[in-house]
This record gives sequence, structure tokens and C-alpha cells, in this order.
Amino acid sequence: MATKPSNERREELISVYREMCDTHECPLKDVRTRVVFGAGNADADVMFVGEAPGAAEDLQGLPFVGRAGKLLDELLAEVGIQRSDVFITNVICCRPPGNRDPLPDEIESCKPYLYRKIELIEPKIICTLGNFATKLLTGNPTGITKVHGRPQEREIADRLVLLFPIFHPAAALRTESVKQLLRDDFAKLPELLAQQAEREEEEAPDGEADQLGLFQ
Ligand code: URA
Repeated sequence: MATKPSNERREELISVYREMCDTHECPLKDVRTRVVFGAGNADADVMFVGEAPGAAEDLQGLPFVGRAGKLLDELLAEVGIQRSDVFITNVICCRPPGNRDPLPDEIESCKPYLYRKIELIEPKIICTLGNFATKLLTGNPTGITKVHGRPQEREIADRLVLLFPIFHPAAALRTESVKQLLRDDFAKLPELLAQQAEREEEEAPDGEADQLGLFQ
């Protein structure tokens, strides 16, 4: 259940963004154009975590606005979810030169900010897109090919969250069979969301007790 009023959540997200832009000693700060903090619904039930911004994202300051983003939009639409319903971010928020893989020190340096975003948004489900996000948030080195499409419950930022590892859309653009696997995994999302909502309802304290503050 959400613990923060929406306006507070938004204000705190903005201050995290300002901190990333103004004071964070990011190893990529001299080579990036813009910090790609993440974008979308601050009250989202579903959060997507990709790898790192690419060239288009670096220029616009927004995540997944290139070809991989178009595919992400298409897959979301197929399951009746709009981009404005979800929050999208990345493991690291600055583009690595030449789109190389993020380095361990870059991931470590950005990790507290990713956790802060998760803590503030309080998503029910986090879809990890590809290996980097999956390995980081599951805390397990097993790659996406083995774990995709199977939800895993994890405690992140002091809350239980359902992690749903799926292939990265960029990998799906390269290989048609991966695109089908990604599409199949996306098709599971509405049911997962319904299950999480039902579970939350079961666990919620009843109205009167809540009103009396008995569960606070
Ligand atoms: N790939 C990612 O992992 N993130 C983006 O924002 C764009 C492409």
C-alpha cells in the first residue's frame, strides 16, 4: 500500500533528480549530455528498469525514446498499458561513451539513486529489462535467458516487490525469436498486476481499524 501522498512523492523525486544533476560525482558526468533520471507516473504500480541511456535518450534527457523505446511502447499497448501508467528508468542514468556496457563503478555510483526511486515510487512490480537490471536487482548473477518470464519476490528498499525479469527490447530488435519471448512475457503482466492488487487488498487493514489508527 502506498505510504506517501502523491505530491510529497513527486517533490522528493524532483529533489533526487536535482541532486543527481548538481552534486552527484558520477563517473560519466563529463561525457554525458543530460542525466536521464527516468520518467513516467510517480504513483506507478509497474516500474521498468533498463540498462543505460543511448544517444537519443542522452540528447532528450528521457528514457527509452529511441527504437527500443518504440518497441517498449508497442508491447505495453498490446497488454493495455500506457507509458503514462508506468515509471521507466535505467540502472545508470548517464550514457556510456559509444553505448558500451556500464562499468561496475558506474553501476555502484548510480545504485543508491535507483533504490531511492524505488523507495519513493513504491511499485508493486519491477520489470527488469535485460541482464544488467536483472542481475543488480535480483542480487544473482544468473542471466536473463535463464530467468526471464518468472516473477521473483524480493525485499528492496524495505518493501516486498515482485521482480519480473524480461528481455531487453534492444535484444528483441536484434533477434526475432527473442522478440516473441519478450511478447509472451509481456502478456503475463496484466495477470501479475491483478494478483498483486488482490494480495494487497487481502493484506490491507479493514477500514474502521484503519480509521482509528489501530494499524499505524
Ligand atoms: N536502452 C536502455 O537500456 N535504456 C534506455 O533508456 C534506452 C535504451
